[in-house]
Amino acid sequence: MDLLKKRIVEDGTVLPGNVLKVDNFLNHQVDTKLMDEIGKEFAKLFEGEKITKVVTVESSGIAPALMTALHLGVPLIFARKHKSLTLTDNLYTATVYSYTKRVSNDISVDKRFLNSEDRILIIDDFLANGQAVQGLLEIAKVANVQVAGIGIVIEKSFQKGRSMIEKTGVRLESLARIASLENQKVTFVE
Ligand code: 5GP
Repeated sequence: MDLLKKRIVEDGTVLPGNVLKVDNFLNHQVDTKLMDEIGKEFAKLFEGEKITKVVTVESSGIAPALMTALHLGVPLIFARKHKSLTLTDNLYTATVYSYTKRVSNDISVDKRFLNSEDRILIIDDFLANGQAVQGLLEIAKVANVQVAGIGIVIEKSFQKGRSMIEKTGVRLESLARIASLENQKVTFVE
């Protein structure tokens, strides 16, 4: 998606540890017009997939996932993060290691919001090693819902997430694919 790539080049900064900072348009201050275009693009890519719900993890997945859900005309569910869960009877849960925060969190979705008739689209802001997506796939499996696809705003293709997802056979669509962040420079996959 050219509009997104242009914005990454203009406004993204590369931090140590292969972290791309995009907090002035994606995950702190949010460019709502760009998010709308991102939502439209995912909705176009996955139209015809009979998606019933869009699922993400709080908090930075919410903006692109919300716009995607709006354009698909379906509800958005965001898994909630907790330090560690004790009472889990009415929750689907998974443990996710955060790439940027370097801590593990349990994520959870209330059982009322997913059922076996659902066909979900997973959306997230970034794909690094695939931990967040894996947590959502685990929840989908236990909830017995079908996963129609995974939509990622910015994929760091030099990390392990893509190959992990490819092994599951689930369709993956990324709007910007980064080949390298070496020397503080963003290089896209051709
Ligand atoms: P993964 O679970 O795939 O290892 O990492 C994905 C999650 O970590 C995303 O939800 C995102 O919040 C965060 N993340 C991973 N890499 C980056 C990055 O380069 N920049 C930012 N801002 N967040 C990232």
